[in-house]
Amino acid sequence: MNNKNLSARSQQVVWHPCTQMKQHETLPLVSIQRGQGVWLYDCDGNRYLDTISSWWVNLFGHCHPYINNALNDQLSKLEHVMLAGLTHEPVVQLSERLSKLTPGNLGHCFYASDGASAVEIALKMSFHYWQQCGHPSKTDFISLQNGYHGETLGALSVTDVAIFKQTYAPLLRHTEHMPSPDWRNAAAGQSAEDYALDTVQKLENYLAIHHTHTAALILEPLVQGATGMAMYHPIYLTRAKEICHHYQVHLIADEIAVGFGRTGTLFACEQADITPDFLCLSKGLSGGYLPLSVVLTTPAVFEAFYHDKTSRAFLHSHSHTGNALACRAALATLDLFEQNNVIEANRAKANYLNERLLPLQTHPKVKHFRNRGMIWAFEVINSDDNFANTLFKLGLEKQLLLRPLGNTVYFMPPYIINEEEMDWLATSVLHILDAI
Ligand SMILES: *Cc1c(COP(=O)(O)O)cnc(C)c1O
Repeated sequence: MNNKNLSARSQQVVWHPCTQMKQHETLPLVSIQRGQGVWLYDCDGNRYLDTISSWWVNLFGHCHPYINNALNDQLSKLEHVMLAGLTHEPVVQLSERLSKLTPGNLGHCFYASDGASAVEIALKMSFHYWQQCGHPSKTDFISLQNGYHGETLGALSVTDVAIFKQTYAPLLRHTEHMPSPDWRNAAAGQSAEDYALDTVQKLENYLAIHHTHTAALILEPLVQGATGMAMYHPIYLTRAKEICHHYQVHLIADEIAVGFGRTGTLFACEQADITPDFLCLSKGLSGGYLPLSVVLTTPAVFEAFYHDKTSRAFLHSHSHTGNALACRAALATLDLFEQNNVIEANRAKANYLNERLLPLQTHPKVKHFRNRGMIWAFEVINSDDNFANTLFKLGLEKQLLLRPLGNTVYFMPPYIINEEEMDWLATSVLHILDAI
């Protein structure tokens, strides 16, 4: 089976995500046959460097022997069992380990499969908590401008991406979006910290008036991913937490994209030294192997549901909650973090790639080159309406899998990327920029 064949069959039977299917009349799907490390191989034998970790989920490369072995072992014991009335070693161990690792040792892990489902759970839990704790008027959520939290109806309500949201507006709950601390919007000469302090003041002004009907603020700590890798100063989080605490509003940290080392610390909240009321994790949680997400919360929230009456419980479930294979992949992923001192090793890698990408910082076609941890992004100045597709195609020609967000090009490579591969990435991207 070659690329063209499989692409044609796929177009007949698979409805691809976030895609205008008609575009594939002219742009064939890339048919991936196998993956190894940072490389994806297509059916025609071409290879592509996965610079975006397959939508940010893959941490240690494709087909990692250690995770593969763990999964094979788990397969021979238990693939899945429902989690109501039953439990199993992988889900208990994973919960224990996550609790030890998360800011403030959050716990009471509630599992689901996708990021959006974790967001739904956090929103429902927050709302329900206030219902049960004598604040029934706290029913609203607030979020940040250009925030992204997933695309199911509840998650889409708190998301601020017009193209995903407009059509469905009548189905969504109204959500106020607070000004984003995205430093690109600062006045000339204003520091990231000052801009964060300015914007967080607007959050305080809002909550001073509206706290009685606000249940929670949800945000992506340090990097707003889906709307173009907007980066901001940790002081925003520190102050937001203080303000939320003062006004009795939950803080939901959506670390679905930034968790597990992407911003340079295991969790982004660590850089602001805060403990959120809810922490949503997914994407890298299982090393990118299997769909798995989790919400961790505080004893205070857990205890508000702990009661003789069933009706006071959190009556929410998904069929694959706590899937044993996915949990085992997550355990193997955590092992790799420990065994290889990954957070520290990533610092050296980030330094190396930054050095290689230096020419981008002064490149005439590049604006706002930025890096945090293992995330790089920059805007490309051009007039191509179809820029993202153009760059995708040019990337493939240079053995790179690139998927710009509008005119924002970003890299979020697997952590196992080596110097030679970083050289390839930097050199090829410079060639592509010169060619467009
Ligand atoms: C990807 C993402 C989600 C949604 O996760 P899915 O698994 O795609 O449903 C939510 N929040 C953030 C910050 C994300 O990056």
